[in-house]
Amino acid sequence: MIVLIRNAAVYQPEYAGKKDILILGDKIAAVEENIKAEFSGTISVEEIDGTGLLAVPGFVDSHEHIMGGGGEGGFMTRTPEAMLTDLTLNGITTVVGCIGTDGVTRDMAALLAKAHGLEEEGITTYVYTGSYQVPVHTLTGSLMKDIMLLDKVIGAGEIAISDHRSSQPTYEEFVRIVSDVRVGGMLSGKAGVVNIHLGDSPRLMDLIWRTVKETEIPFTQFLPTHVNRNEALFQSCMEFAKEGGVIDFTGNEEIDYWESICDEVRVCKGIRRLLEAGVSKDNFTVSSDGQGSLPVFNSRGEFQGIGVGKASCLLKEVKECVTREDIPLEIALRAVTSNPARILKLKKKGHILPDYHGDICLLREKDFSLHTVIAKGQVMVREGEAVVKGTFEKQGKKTGGK
Ligand code: ZN
Repeated sequence: MIVLIRNAAVYQPEYAGKKDILILGDKIAAVEENIKAEFSGTISVEEIDGTGLLAVPGFVDSHEHIMGGGGEGGFMTRTPEAMLTDLTLNGITTVVGCIGTDGVTRDMAALLAKAHGLEEEGITTYVYTGSYQVPVHTLTGSLMKDIMLLDKVIGAGEIAISDHRSSQPTYEEFVRIVSDVRVGGMLSGKAGVVNIHLGDSPRLMDLIWRTVKETEIPFTQFLPTHVNRNEALFQSCMEFAKEGGVIDFTGNEEIDYWESICDEVRVCKGIRRLLEAGVSKDNFTVSSDGQGSLPVFNSRGEFQGIGVGKASCLLKEVKECVTREDIPLEIALRAVTSNPARILKLKKKGHILPDYHGDICLLREKDFSLHTVIAKGQVMVREGEAVVKGTFEKQGKKTGGK
């Protein structure tokens, strides 16, 4: 399969001007002006007119409950797993799956199976080993073995701290986890990052701060998430980012509602504050927490039920950075492309450059809506419609199976 995009405004994520992009097989072969190429015989070439479109790297979602999560309100509040189009229709071409609160009925075998399924359907997938719980429930019985021997495992997470749903890990337990993950990563050439779920207790980032101050473990071994959950937590995380750590915002499709009932920090405002405080444009990411559970309350504060997190928030947050806070698109894009790819050491991801994977989103210049999504050279979404659907999303006829 060959895809040739003509005359799109290319963000690598740095702006590179109007260019053509040639994708051969699963990789980008060239990003140049007026590419001249001739193909003969039965080779199928899809040529896309990129006029009026922005070409940006496919999104890397570093925290998504791909096989569902939730359950905190009883079994009926377990959330459903992600279908392929929950990701591709929102521009996501690489996803890192995680478990969440329930590490009993959802385990590593099931998470890996789900990740393999999505990969077979066309996108790129990785997972963190473990769940909220400590000791960490691994597949092989050892954190280091999971990271070193299972291709898809790139780190551990989401380990919960400062949360009433956590295992209340002690400092010693916490440091042991981080050091095992770090060494496992070193020995296998992977990131060995620990994705930390931050709850809303006043202990904030205490365990992480103590670890970087009292041990040799560097800031970059952590990817703390939900950093914008409340103002106090965000301030501590902002300090962490100033010192060289990378912090992960959780996108929020319903932020107008949440801003009205709590002090959650709007992603675009948080990124603006980081940049103004001198934090590097490389040191923040945004993930979706997709398929995670979201308790919903009415205007009187009464519990109404559990909603499901949506991966659509990534594109929405990029758009808000540009339209509400005037952050340059090439900086906003880093949060969902090159930054997560770098901290997680995902090879050939997060940039539109020759030899990188052909993971590209085309956005309409006028409103940033999604036009085309290409994952490893395969067109998944065309004119906003899914052309590749997941196994259970296809319209089929019943064939008499009993
Ligand atoms: Zn979480």
